[in-house]
Amino acid sequence: MRWNQDKERENQEKIRDFQAKMTRGYAFKRAYAARRAWEFYNHPEVAGRCYAAVGGLDSITLFLFLRSIGIDVPAVSVSMLEDQSIQRIHRALGVKGLKPASSPQGRPYSKIEVIRDFGFPVLSKEAARKICDLQNPTEKNATTRHAIMTGETGEYGGFRTGTHMKLSQKWLEKFGGPENEREGTDYQTAPFPVSDKCCYFLKEKPLSSYTAENGVFPYMGLMASEEGRRKKTLAIHGCNYITKSTRRSAPFAIFTRQDLLTLALEMEEWYHGHWREFRPIAGEEDGAEVYGEPIHLETIVPAIYGKIVRDLPDMTPEELEAYRRDHGGTEPEGLLRTTKAQRTGCQMCGFGIHLERRPHRFDRIRYKNPREWEMWMNHVCQDEDGAWYGWGRVLDYIGVGWRDDLFSREDPKPLCAQCAADLRRDFVMERPAGIEAVQEKRGTCWSCGRKRSLALWYAAEEVTEA
Ligand SMILES: [Zn+2]
Repeated sequence: MRWNQDKERENQEKIRDFQAKMTRGYAFKRAYAARRAWEFYNHPEVAGRCYAAVGGLDSITLFLFLRSIGIDVPAVSVSMLEDQSIQRIHRALGVKGLKPASSPQGRPYSKIEVIRDFGFPVLSKEAARKICDLQNPTEKNATTRHAIMTGETGEYGGFRTGTHMKLSQKWLEKFGGPENEREGTDYQTAPFPVSDKCCYFLKEKPLSSYTAENGVFPYMGLMASEEGRRKKTLAIHGCNYITKSTRRSAPFAIFTRQDLLTLALEMEEWYHGHWREFRPIAGEEDGAEVYGEPIHLETIVPAIYGKIVRDLPDMTPEELEAYRRDHGGTEPEGLLRTTKAQRTGCQMCGFGIHLERRPHRFDRIRYKNPREWEMWMNHVCQDEDGAWYGWGRVLDYIGVGWRDDLFSREDPKPLCAQCAADLRRDFVMERPAGIEAVQEKRGTCWSCGRKRSLALWYAAEEVTEA
């Protein structure tokens, strides 16, 4: 018990220290990231045996940053899961592509096979794991299942109650059914399997196998500001985490989105002076990579993100004038953002989908590739009666819309002013003719789901960047 209290106090201190660093300025954080990256590289337990685990813009920026400060390590990725535009950047930068873990048939798993074999990754990683336990009862997970249903941890968990083990009431109503008989409850049973194993087979296992087989340790682009529930763990472990079983470095741990985008712009400039140092992997000979001629990318920002732009600060002309006067004539800095996706993940992942504004990630696939969308929505797996279904059934069940279309002129969408303005970045938005349609009414916004004053809109076409 005493040990636990000391540990807890120590952790609280670590979190406070970490949060204090998060509030420092960009120059401090950039220098700090460089120092921690070198400390990891030079640590006796690591001794230069490292690689960069690369995915989207965050870790592409990290890989270039490491190179720019003299840390020359290979980059590795399960690239085939990423968007085409990300794969293009990976190829030019010489990122080594790993294959997903193998299925029982001995071939690397595809996204659709993992979902078919294990279940849909939906809601969140934690919730999906709990639902998976409820749907796959064994003798061994009986205590866990009881805790998921009630929050009571039982004998082995020290008889604690009300723990985080409980699945939230909202989702118990929808997914708790398999335990009705044991728990005396009256919950629903979902007509599809749920699991959190997708990430494991497609991403985590290939990287951990690479780590184990090659005796090398990863640099990762993790940022506490974007980590949600893992934020606390990242704060406690800090940038460099070195134990007997785990060795990893997250130099950007204290970065905000703004810091990352600021550094991405710097790395863009650095890249154009150094692009000849990056060669694509052209093939393999006797177990060693063969490199092709360097490719000069126009930009290191994958097209799926659009461009990095700086928004003008929200100031009146008078305020702007006053600011210039008070700051020796310099302009105030606006916020950086990417014009399209803010972050990317596996294309077919459903984690967080219930919190996303519409058009959500599945809607956007519909605009890009209607046939692929049709497959994912309706033809992923077959139920016992042989009927085909897909994400559509899952989204219907958790109350997320997907059938209606922002592009429908006949069925314009009620949008709040904020959402309509945001959507104009990606779409040419039009309003239907007629006084009735243009009048504002209060109701639920189609995009954000908030109660707002609404007007009807539809999208005429997608905004394409020159
Ligand atoms: Zn809205």
